[in-house]
Amino acid sequence: MTSEQPGLFEELAEQLDQARTEAYLIAEAEDYSYLPFLPGVEVGQAYPEIKDLGELAGVARECRRCRLRESCSQVVFGEGPPDARLMLIGEGPGQDEDIQGRPFVGKAGQLLDKILEAAGIQRSQVYIGNVVKCRPPGNRLPNPDEVKECRKYLERQIKLIRPSIIVCLGSMASQTVIDPNAKITRIRGRWLIRQGIKIMPTYHPAALLRNPSYKRPVWEDFKQIRDEYRNCR
Ligand code: SF4
Repeated sequence: MTSEQPGLFEELAEQLDQARTEAYLIAEAEDYSYLPFLPGVEVGQAYPEIKDLGELAGVARECRRCRLRESCSQVVFGEGPPDARLMLIGEGPGQDEDIQGRPFVGKAGQLLDKILEAAGIQRSQVYIGNVVKCRPPGNRLPNPDEVKECRKYLERQIKLIRPSIIVCLGSMASQTVIDPNAKITRIRGRWLIRQGIKIMPTYHPAALLRNPSYKRPVWEDFKQIRDEYRNCR
């Protein structure tokens, strides 16, 4: 999957003011539980009745809320401990993920494994998911309406897992989690805190495969992530 898509979220940019207002409210709030985490998600929209990650996965597996389910083999919900301290969020399943039903198992996933290993972070201790749970046909980018529908699952995943750290892998994850107008080249490597969760945007491993010059900045980002991970709850 590609991860660079300047302008993809232009039609969602109008939600930016809402997101900023939300961020302000969040900063002021003591109880975050009822406030949406992701920009553009409305209160009560993201399966608030579901209190268990397994149940949410079951609902996602039956999902037909967007066209992506028509062409994929299976829903790739995500994997990892339900109480993981670190959550990695990518873009969407590729061909290998679609076949295996697991996130980040193709070439980009293998590179991610190496990065995690170099940082001393066990993959089995990390929750790994994507913005969209079904593979877009031909590995195209997910459309905004597909992201808008599927991010409700991501919203609930974040609420149920309550990680200490979220790492956004690539442009789409950063635009979905941080800001619809985010440009990964500008924001990577800097921490953001929302609802007590530290968020780090960095390049998608697939971008490293295409552009080896990204290896150095990604490693710098993961050194920060490693240090924060060692110190979090
Ligand atoms: S991509 Fe998400 S919203 Fe679309 S059908 Fe799959 S699970 Fe449902």
